[in-house]
Amino acid sequence: MSDNSKIWLSSPHMGGFEQTFVQEAFDTNWVAPLGPNVSGFESDLENYLNAVASQEVHIAALSSGTAALHLALIMLDVKPGDEVICQSMTFSASANPIAYLGAKPIFIDSEPETWNLCPNALEEAVKNRIAKGKKPKAIVAVHLYGMPCKFDEVRKIADYYQIPIVEDSAEALGSIYKGRKCGTLGDISILSFNGNKIITTSGGGALVAKTKQTKDKAIFLATQARDHAAHYQHSEIGYNYRLSNICAGIGRGQMMVLDQHIALRREMHRFYELIFAAAKDITLLREPNTELFSNHWLTAILIDPKKSNGKSREDLRLLLEQHNIESRPLWKPMHLQPVFSDCPYYGGNVAEQLFENGLCLPSGSNLTPADKQRIQTVLEKFIS
Ligand SMILES: *Cc1c(COP(=O)(O)O)cnc(C)c1O
Repeated sequence: MSDNSKIWLSSPHMGGFEQTFVQEAFDTNWVAPLGPNVSGFESDLENYLNAVASQEVHIAALSSGTAALHLALIMLDVKPGDEVICQSMTFSASANPIAYLGAKPIFIDSEPETWNLCPNALEEAVKNRIAKGKKPKAIVAVHLYGMPCKFDEVRKIADYYQIPIVEDSAEALGSIYKGRKCGTLGDISILSFNGNKIITTSGGGALVAKTKQTKDKAIFLATQARDHAAHYQHSEIGYNYRLSNICAGIGRGQMMVLDQHIALRREMHRFYELIFAAAKDITLLREPNTELFSNHWLTAILIDPKKSNGKSREDLRLLLEQHNIESRPLWKPMHLQPVFSDCPYYGGNVAEQLFENGLCLPSGSNLTPADKQRIQTVLEKFIS
């Protein structure tokens, strides 16, 4: 057998019931950005997160994770000229909404254990920005590749200086930090259901609020900020950010297989751990201790150039590509992006080193034994 079809990094994986919910939407003519699937998906997510949360959360389903971040920052009163702290090592969607509001992102380095916000660099930045006369309006903390950040350390700094945390949990639905689900830790949190995430609605996201009032405000802003009146009356600028009832139907089906997807993603991580067990030049992003539980959305490795006889992550990426297997360098830090070149940065070169040496490997919950065999063969060739 010589099936050489493309193996993707992370592709949509349907559970089977998605079309039932979508069909129901058609049968009842709820083909709109509201309806029973939207509220059903919201309560599925609330039940899932509240099962382990120390505090009840309220979900507003939105058209994307980016839209959720935008609304979160608006509700935290971020205005033109403000500064917002953001993890540098992340997808651009964590930082773009700061720019939408005319505010300035202040980028922070990663720490080497979780690859997320470095508490030391964070504190230095907060102190320095305050000394310069401007207290940051919010801190955007990310759980990269599903790995929870060192949240207690971040929380301590945030509380001391009284700065709210926006928790970007786009990659970390199902991850757990000290017994609490990621997505419930921030003052406001966000989730993403883009096509490549652990569950998908084709495109979609959610804002996770601590109060019903905040959820209602998010929905108000997401539906063009209509005041209570029979005619169209507005006293605030609104947005068109609600999730479609069709997409929410996909989400309801996906919620039925979320735990299964997490188990399968973690199995992929284990698969790579075994392959690289003897390779001294290759390390995986793994939980530093049992208090952190990652959904292992993507398995990421580092290739140490000092130990690998000159072999780089780019060599491995190209070798995989030759075999029609997708892999991808880690997120390029935001402080190295041309579009953010004028933004302040605090920290050392941890994020930069991760970017230089890191690679994300195919991690989908739908990879077949044959796919895994093809991947293993290439990786073993690279190691030897
Ligand atoms: C995917 C992602 C987002 C944005 O979510 P969308 O639904 O694609 O808008 C934000 N932050 C991170 C870290 C992400 O990976």
